[in-house]
Amino acid sequence: MNRIPYGRQSINQADIQAVVEVLQSDLLTQGSAVPAFEQAVSNYCGSQHAVAVNSATSALHLACRALGVGQGDIVWTSPITFVASANCALYCGASVDFVDIDPHTYNMGVEQLEAKLIAAKQTGKLPKVVIPVHLCGQSCEMEPIYQLGQEYGFSIIEDASHAIGGKYQGQPIGNCRYSDITVFSFHPVKIITTGEGGMALTNSQPLADKMILLRSHGMTRDPARMTHEPDGGWYYQQIDLGFNYRMTDIQAALGISQMQRLDEFVKRRYEIAGQYDQLLADLPLTLPWQHPDSDSSWHLYVIRLKLDQIAKTHKEVFDDLREQGIGVNVHYIPVHTQPYYQAMGLEEGSFPEAEHYYHEAMSLPMFPAMPNEQQDTVCSMLAAALPT
Ligand SMILES: *Cc1c(COP(=O)(O)O)cnc(C)c1O
Repeated sequence: MNRIPYGRQSINQADIQAVVEVLQSDLLTQGSAVPAFEQAVSNYCGSQHAVAVNSATSALHLACRALGVGQGDIVWTSPITFVASANCALYCGASVDFVDIDPHTYNMGVEQLEAKLIAAKQTGKLPKVVIPVHLCGQSCEMEPIYQLGQEYGFSIIEDASHAIGGKYQGQPIGNCRYSDITVFSFHPVKIITTGEGGMALTNSQPLADKMILLRSHGMTRDPARMTHEPDGGWYYQQIDLGFNYRMTDIQAALGISQMQRLDEFVKRRYEIAGQYDQLLADLPLTLPWQHPDSDSSWHLYVIRLKLDQIAKTHKEVFDDLREQGIGVNVHYIPVHTQPYYQAMGLEEGSFPEAEHYYHEAMSLPMFPAMPNEQQDTVCSMLAAALPT
């Protein structure tokens, strides 16, 4: 049986042609496509700088490093996210803690953040960096989070892996108005794709320079940054310990082509979300709630089962739908319940809203090329799977 996936890429002839052109050119990597892709994303989002890398995970790691996260530092993120949002701090030797979610948006809650900051100030355990995650493509409440950052002295990385093409207060996510760095993912299930890939946007020249240095081994060819005059035309210096996190030109060419389709993708996702809102209105479900400041990119459409009105468990509904070929998914297993995090002393029960959400949440199939008939199928199967 053909499964309807929860998400998938949309590749057209122009995308294919863009990749073929790079394959037939001299440079498969470190050519002109990567800077052109960075420029395209930067222009779209209204940021001053953009640094393309081989994944959002790499971008999050570089962002933490550029902000000076290291041993003894503390980083906070949302428990309802992909593990990479938290792992990036561990890569730097920092420790991780979480802020419980808002029960309506499922994003990091501003009230919960403030309460935790007040407590952390007392115990001297304030975070160096906070990483709000724009779950499903809906922006976190960045203005109040930024104000708390000013008050308590933390930097902000927006994990916008779901959210390119979305807006906050009518402005594109990625403009970094209320953050130091914003990160996008270009994995095939996300809004646009480069196969694998990510990008870090910032309005700070020093942060951009640092991330550019670290994405390629910590090496520079800029004489101004060297300890002495170059030995000759071949010369470079390694001035920090970096990585090979570079994006290829093959990927960037696909990215440039996909950027031209971004608005069309988001528009279609918005239509699909509107259809789901109508088709599912009478079922025992909580449908996605949108904050008035947000225009979501609609990466995911997450429903919550009203389990007290349904004669089945969360797992039974999930299994039923999977058996019918409906590729539902759960985004996400709360990170603090992962064995690796439990072993660091994080405890189940510490973030009750996140855990409550996890026991009810389900992502329905949603991607730009999804035909209306498939959406009807998802809705009728879902209705049948929810005996009351
Ligand atoms: C997909 C995702 C990532 C990681 O992205 P990659 O490009 O696969 O490394 C990080 N955070 C969130 C919220 C994601 O959804």
